[in-house]
Amino acid sequence: MIYFDNSATTVCLDKAAAAAKEYMLEKPFNPAAAYSAAVKTERDLNAARANIASKIGADPGELIFTSCGTESNNTAIFGSLKAMRGKTRVIISPVEHPSVYEPAMELKEQGYDVVFAPVDMTGRVKLDGLAALMTPSTGLISIMHVNNETGAINDIDGIYAMMKRLAPECLLHSDGVQAFMKEAPVSCDMYSASGHKLHAPKGVGALYVRRGVRVKPYLMGGGQESGMRSGTSNMPGIMAFNAAVEDYALNRAAYRERILAVKERLYGNLKRIKDVTLNSPPMGEGAAHILNVSFLGVRGEVLLNALSEKGLCVSTGSACAAHKRGRNRVLNAMGILGERQDGAIRFSFSHFNTVDEADTAAQMIEEQVSLLRRFRRR
Ligand code: PLP
Repeated sequence: MIYFDNSATTVCLDKAAAAAKEYMLEKPFNPAAAYSAAVKTERDLNAARANIASKIGADPGELIFTSCGTESNNTAIFGSLKAMRGKTRVIISPVEHPSVYEPAMELKEQGYDVVFAPVDMTGRVKLDGLAALMTPSTGLISIMHVNNETGAINDIDGIYAMMKRLAPECLLHSDGVQAFMKEAPVSCDMYSASGHKLHAPKGVGALYVRRGVRVKPYLMGGGQESGMRSGTSNMPGIMAFNAAVEDYALNRAAYRERILAVKERLYGNLKRIKDVTLNSPPMGEGAAHILNVSFLGVRGEVLLNALSEKGLCVSTGSACAAHKRGRNRVLNAMGILGERQDGAIRFSFSHFNTVDEADTAAQMIEEQVSLLRRFRRR
């Protein structure tokens, strides 16, 4: 099998699985308990917190563990409402992941003035358009760091600086699920991450909350995570997340080089097929691990199924997005419509992929595309 769907999820690293196993079998202690084994477990938890926080230049007290990126995003958005102090405008981009988009739609139902920052054809937020929306009534802005469908990278530092000028009391959240450890850290008030996009197991995430920002907890109970997220700490998941982060930190440059080589090789091969358009930013500008292209005259989901039969796993977009024909919210907002939208496929890579896989995959794709186009023309 060739697995090119690493934006949906990644294979768990051996080291991460071993860390999870250790805290399931040998150290199954609740870090909130009082005996010495539990106190030691709490120390391990805090060391993992400090290590992961350091990767985004944060203090340990600014990072809470969650169950996933979705929980981090929901906590950031619903938790900020009190801190908005009566302000009613919420700005997001129209290409946010559903775990930001749907909470924003819920706020709209509740009467908040939810508006969308304009994006270009790769899904990157246009700064002048965003600036025009930043009124004194704006309380929260949520803009993703890396777009999960195209790999477009937003200038979060630039947005934060602009917000400080135009709406200084506003909070900026960024969904960093596709960016954490892969792109340089950015300045904002809240930042979301997820373990399973980075070779940790599913079921663990993190939310950075800048010191001084008061986010209301989404889960209340025993007061874990400094009262910000109750629930017995997921020690196996957290320690596995930490092992995966550490591995990425040690090998980041090598992993990036390998991933970029696979992406560029695949795109180089696919470009030779007739009627293929690039939906991602030009090579070298977007995130290294995401490539989105359209095969005109072919339905993306039909191609996906044909490739799946041959053992190649790809995606027609976010695993969580709605994919009714012509109704892809994200591609619609980017202005990728008609045949181009119908034929869009996302390839996403990890350092476990190879350039040989890129060659094999391209050959499979070329065969299937020409077969499907022949079918369609009859
Ligand atoms: N945000 C983005 C940009 C994503 O790509 C995803 C997952 O696909 C999420 C949030 C949700 O993360 P999780 O699966 O950990 O809930």
